[in-house]
Amino acid sequence: MNSKYFSLLLILILLSGCSKDGDVNFFSIQDDKDFGSELKKEILSNPSEYPIVDESINPEPYQYIRGMMNQVLESEDIYHSEEFNWEVYIIDRKDIINAFAAPGGKLFFYTGLIDYLNSGAELAGVMAHEVAHSDRRHSTETLTKQYGLSILLSILLGDNPSKLEQIAGELALATGTLQFSQKHEYEADEYSVRYLASVKNQKNYRPGGILGFFNKLKENGQWYSSDENPIHFMRTHPPDDKRVDNINTVLEELNNPTGNDFTEEYNNFKNALGL
Ligand SMILES: [Zn+2]
Repeated sequence: MNSKYFSLLLILILLSGCSKDGDVNFFSIQDDKDFGSELKKEILSNPSEYPIVDESINPEPYQYIRGMMNQVLESEDIYHSEEFNWEVYIIDRKDIINAFAAPGGKLFFYTGLIDYLNSGAELAGVMAHEVAHSDRRHSTETLTKQYGLSILLSILLGDNPSKLEQIAGELALATGTLQFSQKHEYEADEYSVRYLASVKNQKNYRPGGILGFFNKLKENGQWYSSDENPIHFMRTHPPDDKRVDNINTVLEELNNPTGNDFTEEYNNFKNALGL
């Protein structure tokens, strides 16, 4: 074997870590945290695109949504509840129905999504889904697939450190616009149910609440993404029909856990945001 390719193979083996679910991830936990911090910085510095609801002026909705996030993080199925510095932000854009999870535990919810949903159980379902994307490191797994080899080649070919720094900067930004794979969506849906089913000591949000969101999208003909579809969630979290079946399978496996919708409390949360 050509020695250069042998070195490449060696680096590939040395650097590639398998995440706990067996997927290859070249990045470290610290990389996830750095990408998340970098992305958060970008978002907070761009208030025209991302007008963040100011917690110092309007603390009530943050108490609610952070309480929900912290409850999900108590699930024993979470890997990085301590390592990641978990934060949640509300973006005041009623025109955007979406939520996204940056790596390292940084979560963002648009008021458009909050307005579209009807109950605490539905938001808890989407919250748990986003927590799963971040906790299970789906962004850096995707980056590994997309850029892994080219980064390794840069290292192998002795590119200068500033080039690598530049790549890291570009990657941080790329994590915000990644489209998750079907496999990642299935996994985030599955853990959305598992997290809520496993945390019962606080509010008993009905596990599988995310189905309420999906059913509403289907009823409104907004399930599939297209240029006309205003539902951004469907672009960054690609839908397919098996997602609903998979969620029902997990619910059955867990003996159909029950819970409450917390509709009145949810309406108070909406009111506090002027929705
Ligand atoms: Zn998703």
